[in-house]
Amino acid sequence: MTRVVQKFGGTSVADIDRIKAVAQRVKAEVDQGSEVAVVVSAMSGTTNQLVDWAVQAAPLHDAREYDTIVAAGEQVTAGLLALCLQTIGVDARSWLGWQIPLRTDDAHGKARITEIETDTLSERLSSGQVAVVAGFQGIASDNRITTLGRGGSDTSAVALAAALNADRCDIFTDVDGVYTTDPRIVGKARKLDRITYEEMLEMASLGAKVLQTRSVELAMNHKVRVQVRSSFSDAEGTLVVDEGEIVEQEVVSGIAYSKDEAKITLVRVADQPGVAAAIFGPLSDASVNVDMIVQNVSEDGKATDMTFTVVKEDFERAMAILESNKESLGYERLVSDSNVVKISVIGVGMRSHAGVAQRMFMALADKGINIQVISTSEIKVSVLVSEDYTELALRALHTAYGLDAA
Ligand code: ASP
Ligand code: MG
Repeated sequence: MTRVVQKFGGTSVADIDRIKAVAQRVKAEVDQGSEVAVVVSAMSGTTNQLVDWAVQAAPLHDAREYDTIVAAGEQVTAGLLALCLQTIGVDARSWLGWQIPLRTDDAHGKARITEIETDTLSERLSSGQVAVVAGFQGIASDNRITTLGRGGSDTSAVALAAALNADRCDIFTDVDGVYTTDPRIVGKARKLDRITYEEMLEMASLGAKVLQTRSVELAMNHKVRVQVRSSFSDAEGTLVVDEGEIVEQEVVSGIAYSKDEAKITLVRVADQPGVAAAIFGPLSDASVNVDMIVQNVSEDGKATDMTFTVVKEDFERAMAILESNKESLGYERLVSDSNVVKISVIGVGMRSHAGVAQRMFMALADKGINIQVISTSEIKVSVLVSEDYTELALRALHTAYGLDAA
């Protein structure tokens, strides 16, 4: 018996007509003889509205009450879809996080799943009943409702697929798959048939919004076969799979970008042991995430420049911390720039190919684009350039790596 988890995002359940269409899709899977668990998001716009109300009621809200409020959207959709399924003759019932139960830690607002009790759910599925599960929510050890962070119903779906030993986890969304880069910017972007977990993880954490990062981590760890596909067409989507399943591996599979970066330079800090620790210690204590780092070679052996990037949200905080530590850090001045974009080329193929970074540098040089910071990892090369060149750089790189659609 094939067991399938289907997840439908907010735009797929935006109104009653769309929920009825989702019910038809679920029925089609049931009619093929599959056991189906469906995970739903809130109707699009609902969660934003709920968050907004929580903030209006109390800007510094109790995170437990925040979760009580924002988890409500998924409850509504789960009930509505169960009704629509029953109406077309499909045996179905809704399940809230606490009813399963789907247990989490108590980090309200961004809880992590600790355990899913699947006995009852599994029995119901085997008896032919469709389980309509409210995504995004769980229950903490003190019986309070938790949520998994924005976009968290992807994670609900993958976790459920792992726990239920499902054969597939289909993520239905408003795009028809994962693209080589943002198709709104690069007209020649192509839909990928397959992408590896590791590449998808990089793409997601670099801001490609198709899947919540944590859901990809989970899929990778539990080897869940995830397919990203459109809920508005029957076209095949993109399979997220293990590296071994990809026969012809491209060197670079995708290009991601993030405008959510700001660059900070400490001009003339002492070039001596302990300086990096003194700079980055207080930042990490304040949970400021530092991304790319470069330290210049010092000309005189006494002082050097230290440059790094942070996400824009952390920028003000980072600057305040550095300013308040000016005395002890002993730098000459702080220079900052938020008009920057980080562009990353990603591909597991680069492990076994030389010259990938060089091709990036050449392509950017050809267009006269100056690179401000470079960082590399095993399957990724990232550069920081002026935000004004985002489109030009993306298009040039897309062509340079042979990714353009024919
Ligand atoms: N409704 C939640 C959100 O908007 C969870 C989700 O849709 O994945 O973030
Ligand atoms: Mg989403």
